[in-house]
Amino acid sequence: MKKILTLILLLVFFASNAQDTFLHCGKLIDTKNGKVLSEKTIVVSGNKILRIENGYVNSNNSEDRVIDLKNKTVLPGLTDMHVHIEGESSRDSYLNPFILNDADVAFNAAEIAKRTLMAGFTTVRDLGGSGVNVALRNAINAGKTDGPRIYTAEKALATTGGHADPTNGRKKILMGDPGPAEGVVNGVEDASKAVRQRYKNGADWIKITATGGVLSVAKSSKNPQFTEEEIKAIVETAKDYDMQVAAHAHGDEGMQRAIRAGVKTIEHGTLMSDETMELMKNNNAYLVPTITAGKFVSDQAKIENYYPAIIVPKALEIGPKIQDMFGRAYKKGVPIVFGTDAGVFPHGQNAKEFGYMVEAGMPAMEAIQSATVVSAKILKAENEIGQLAPGFFADIIAVNEDPSNNVKTLENVVFVMKNGTIYKD
Ligand SMILES: [Zn+2]
Repeated sequence: MKKILTLILLLVFFASNAQDTFLHCGKLIDTKNGKVLSEKTIVVSGNKILRIENGYVNSNNSEDRVIDLKNKTVLPGLTDMHVHIEGESSRDSYLNPFILNDADVAFNAAEIAKRTLMAGFTTVRDLGGSGVNVALRNAINAGKTDGPRIYTAEKALATTGGHADPTNGRKKILMGDPGPAEGVVNGVEDASKAVRQRYKNGADWIKITATGGVLSVAKSSKNPQFTEEEIKAIVETAKDYDMQVAAHAHGDEGMQRAIRAGVKTIEHGTLMSDETMELMKNNNAYLVPTITAGKFVSDQAKIENYYPAIIVPKALEIGPKIQDMFGRAYKKGVPIVFGTDAGVFPHGQNAKEFGYMVEAGMPAMEAIQSATVVSAKILKAENEIGQLAPGFFADIIAVNEDPSNNVKTLENVVFVMKNGTIYKD
């Protein structure tokens, strides 16, 4: 009895001495209701939001911190649903598989993760790398290095010669014959095995390359690369492990197969027909637009020798089409969630996507919601992230202007808190 009393007294002592943070917010974005609120105080305790009060409330405990954001707009940390956290495309990046060891990739990735967090993105979905992405996620979760919350697909799945076949475009002796362990599948048995291998390796999501792509050393950017039966096997197996499937797709046929087979998100969606847009709506599949990546690759392709020759016509054809498709999809009511394909362009510039979305006709508030409440729902974290509300993780950012009036202000995030820790002030 005495022991229990002492324990309770100790707990009360520590609880009352824990430092809370009081954030005085000039404006605050209610992402759930799409409203801009004025003069609020967010009280953060540990890694969670404790409560939100009207007006500027001060603590009566001298241990507590007060952060003055009275001339800022405060919103939940942003989520990018499509990044490649392990690296960054450049003129030299096609050499990387031959010169970088996992340790090099890991140091590069750690720097990229920090840059992403400092840009206000407190959560990302990583859609494919080598497996270092899993180690990075674990290190961030353990507090060993700084970065966003990561949901990772580990290695993307492809068919032989497909967009994510890791030995595409090499001389034969270097091609080998990668299989399910390396993320290459042919047939339904391979498909299930590759998903189970991702689970074993620590993936949170499954990514497939349902059609050709732009930056792979291969001819087509749009041919279908999986049978519908293969995708079905992937989706069904993923379900057993409580994982969902994201499908890279530029071409319409591959997109339709993926949607019918039950994938949750279509990445890029470049050549999406009206019929496929209806299919997206009927199957509650989300478009991840990646307009920024499209614009970046078509600009770079105009620089001589920037990309290998086989890539140039693909980048020039596909890149400029994404924003128009996005505008049509938005008008038709296709579900949309924010994602950029950062890594194709420099990490840290993720927020450029907001400007392109608004330019194509989406209201700024909806674009913000697509990177907060909508992404949280797809990640099955709608009670943890994407809102400033009691019980949610204290993932909080601030910008100089009201982004519902000027969305480009999100490109200059001035305050970043993640999990109750301040990274940028
Ligand atoms: Zn990508």
